[in-house]
Amino acid sequence: MRKKTSFPKPELNTEDLSLALYNVTQKLERANALLEKTQQEKNLLFANISHDLRSPITALRNSIEYLLSLENVEKAELDASLHLMEQRSIYLENLIDDVFLLSSINVNENMFHYETLNLTFLLEDFYFTQLEDGKYEQRNLLLDVAEDFECMVSVDSKMLLRVLDNLFTNALKYSHEGSSITLSAYKDTHSAHVLVKDTGIGIETEHLSKIFDTSYMVESARTPSSSTGTGLGLSIVKAIVEHFGGSIWCESVVSKGSTFHFTIPLKK
Ligand code: ATP
Ligand code: MG
Repeated sequence: MRKKTSFPKPELNTEDLSLALYNVTQKLERANALLEKTQQEKNLLFANISHDLRSPITALRNSIEYLLSLENVEKAELDASLHLMEQRSIYLENLIDDVFLLSSINVNENMFHYETLNLTFLLEDFYFTQLEDGKYEQRNLLLDVAEDFECMVSVDSKMLLRVLDNLFTNALKYSHEGSSITLSAYKDTHSAHVLVKDTGIGIETEHLSKIFDTSYMVESARTPSSSTGTGLGLSIVKAIVEHFGGSIWCESVVSKGSTFHFTIPLKK
């Protein structure tokens, strides 16, 4: 008959047990705080979106009612009202598109079409396309990518172009004539690093930690009457970069400029 092996019973050490219990409680408390924060952010987003949807709709209705009340309308007045209505409609369209994208990124599996590609080519193509775009005429666009910078990444190219376009549009929007916008890249052992640097107005430290939050526009940039921006741009950028497995942050000095820095894991 086979001899039964007996293992020593683990001793119950109350100190270890209470330490383990303490650690688990701490973890649970942290998870709970995170959940509450997410819930609060979601509520705030809903409140902001409801507000942001309501204002242009009310303005649109007022413009329509005003035009309908006129007996004789001058062409110039009609054009001005129609232009305002067009702006409001574009804003609404952008807001709906952005909210849809942001809410789908992490739940809709079919949203991203990953492919392995050479990041160098994508960055160069993007840069030269912007160079030909008239809207950057008053800015110095620079490319700072080492000649031997070769790296393969797994990304959805359309989404990556959306990230770059968003960062470039911000660099343009928040800078003055004659400012520079530089696209640079380098890599380390694990990641490709992409930087969009501008010499624009910069961001105050108190706002810096919030710019990636949903629907956060620095107050001075919030000009709802003329702007068609939704303030969701950087939240979308962050969600896309994180979907790629990377991260994004910003360094900025008021009146000197801002650098947006993001990483993408290298494809081995
Ligand atoms: P949208 O991108 O939806 O059109 P937006 O540009 O206002 O609107 P975000 O791109 O999310 O929104 O940017 C959030 C805020 O961060 C902006 O309102 C602006 O105040 C600030 N910001 C973003 N990029 C820059 C930059 N390069 N320089 C200075 N401030 C910036
Ligand atoms: Mg933006």
